[in-house]
Amino acid sequence: MRRFEDKVVLVTGAASGIGRATVERLAQEGAKLLCVDIQAEAVEATAKRAIELGAEAEARVCDVSDPKQCTATVKACIDRFGKLDALCNIAGIIRLSHTHELSLEDWNRVLSVNLTGTFLMSQAALPHLLASGGSIVNTASTAALAGVPWGAAYGASKGGVLALTRSMAVEYGKQGLRVNAVSPGSILTPMGSRSILPDDIDTTLLARLMALDKPRGPEVVAGVVALLASEDGAHINGEQIRIDGGTLA
Ligand code: NAD
Repeated sequence: MRRFEDKVVLVTGAASGIGRATVERLAQEGAKLLCVDIQAEAVEATAKRAIELGAEAEARVCDVSDPKQCTATVKACIDRFGKLDALCNIAGIIRLSHTHELSLEDWNRVLSVNLTGTFLMSQAALPHLLASGGSIVNTASTAALAGVPWGAAYGASKGGVLALTRSMAVEYGKQGLRVNAVSPGSILTPMGSRSILPDDIDTTLLARLMALDKPRGPEVVAGVVALLASEDGAHINGEQIRIDGGTLA
């Protein structure tokens, strides 16, 4: 399948996990890629991998919570490739803590990367996506759909991502732009292995959030991101797709 032949896609969070898997999937499908992340070396490695897979690709260091960097990154994409067909907002962070102990600094940082970052990249990209009749794929989480204990900031940020997705989908749908989201459950990425749960917690509270089958690799999300960004998703707008093996069904 080469659904992204002559299509230009900007992927944030491209240095690792789901973002990197998405770049690989889109590269295999013929996309031209701007790979964006705060991790300079790792995002270079992702772009190099995309080139090995036959794609045109470039790496760009950008903190999605910084409006100036988002604007400059979209400009760099247009300067290099001449247009933008899809934006995949995948960059994200998590901080787990008892809510009564969560620092305001952590709350603000999670919201600023996951929610504000999605808004800022979308805002910078919108004029170009409207020109190309393109689409946005945002990354929510099952944490937006069911309560995740010790994840107040994360869940709030991802709930916001879903609301932002629906709002933009309705606002721009008539102009030919689509905005959708994926809501992964437990995916094996560095984020999961880095997440530190607080001490003295009742782990039985997590039972209903465990996937029905074993946790899967990031490629299961990348395939759905590619579907939503491609012409196969041409009449899907304002939707979110759960990727959790049926856990929340
Ligand atoms: P990951 O840690 O492997 O990748 C996240 C990437 O985002 C990293 O490369 C990181 O450097 C980048 N990033 C962080 N802050 C950034 C910033 N300010 N600007 C630009 N890039 C930044 O994690 P992942 O599991 O691949 O997560 C990708 C997305 O999927 C996130 O939005 C996450 O919330 C979401 N998600 C993950 C899971 C899971 O189980 N892994 C479940 C649901 C949702």
